[in-house]
Amino acid sequence: MEYKVGVISGDGIGPEIVGEAKKVLDAVGKKYGHSFIYDDILMGGCSIDKTGEPLTDGAIEQAKKSDAVLMGSIGGNTATSPWYKLPPEKRPEAGLLKLRKSLNLFANLRPAYLYEELKAACPLREDIIGDGFDMAIMRELTGGLYFGERETKEVNGVRQATDTLTYNEEEIRRITIKAFDIAMKRRKKVTSVDKANVLDSSRLWRNVVEEVAKDYPEVSYEHMLVDNAAMQLVKDPKQFDVILTENMFGDILSDEASMVTGSIGMLSSASFNDTKFGLYEPSGGSAPDIAGKGIANPIATILSAAMMLRYSFDLDKEADAIEGAVRSALKEGFRTIDIMPQKGESLDGIKQVGTKEMGDIIAERI
Ligand code: NAD
Repeated sequence: MEYKVGVISGDGIGPEIVGEAKKVLDAVGKKYGHSFIYDDILMGGCSIDKTGEPLTDGAIEQAKKSDAVLMGSIGGNTATSPWYKLPPEKRPEAGLLKLRKSLNLFANLRPAYLYEELKAACPLREDIIGDGFDMAIMRELTGGLYFGERETKEVNGVRQATDTLTYNEEEIRRITIKAFDIAMKRRKKVTSVDKANVLDSSRLWRNVVEEVAKDYPEVSYEHMLVDNAAMQLVKDPKQFDVILTENMFGDILSDEASMVTGSIGMLSSASFNDTKFGLYEPSGGSAPDIAGKGIANPIATILSAAMMLRYSFDLDKEADAIEGAVRSALKEGFRTIDIMPQKGESLDGIKQVGTKEMGDIIAERI
């Protein structure tokens, strides 16, 4: 099969890490008989330099014509880069916000997976970690408190600020369907997180989740209050498969979940609309402090490419091959600098490698 992949290399380490993900995709294509046709899309600082805009209408059209988009990262050093002297709507990050809006990306998926070999980076106790955990947080991205009406005013000489949290049933239904679809490709369990003991929006959330769940008899589901979910994530993370939640709860819980896995260089992510299209990117930024040094960890971007194969192209076997190759590389002791053992840990069998070597090693193991 032929797949059209829009590629946003972006700024900083972006081009370095995306280059390695393409290398791994090409190895998959060769082994399984697919071709990935790449279409380079300008976004971020590099687009500002060339066109004066962080994202042009032409670039949006290119993304819309792609089957999926693979992205590195955008932005520069926010203290020193001239991009940050521009008005906010002209800065690199405005390009990403505009792209998300234009493509109607309302769902964000962030897996949190603990590799056996990187257990030492996990701040949890050994008995809690056990043989590791593997969960994914599905967060609503375009509604809720962050997008509701807000107001700051003075009432009787006292300053007062108001934010509103609104969801309609359609917004809840479309993300719930996404979460259950993802669960079907995983261990078939959804934990829907809300605050239904207090919030009306959460009570509606619960009702809609229960309606959607009827269409997925194979998926088991439960409701959990957000305060309990925050505790359970550090007390017993193994219990979770897919966590489904609204925008603000998801913002907080996805950061908590990613912290318990260790390095930022390992965390992939995806954003979806209601088609098979997805925007796949590492969770980290453009890391201007290490850009151009050839030491960035490409694994999060490579794992994002694996998610693209699984969720946009339904190439599960091929996605497994990438994830297996990453596990093999780690098992064999290969590490980029950010995931090297910490002080006091054994260096036995560990080999430090750069961005390109890590890409080569993973591609060879496909
Ligand atoms: P950052 O994620 O770029 O860097 C934080 C730290 O993590 C740095 O020390 C960096 O070296 C390290 N790091 C990040 N990715 C790594 C990798 N793959 N391998 C090894 N180490 C890695 O966050 P920041 O410094 O706050 O932001 C830098 C720029 O990135 C800013 O312009 C910010 O706006 C932008 N940003 C972009 C995105 C995106 O493109 N989606 C996301 C977050 C931040």
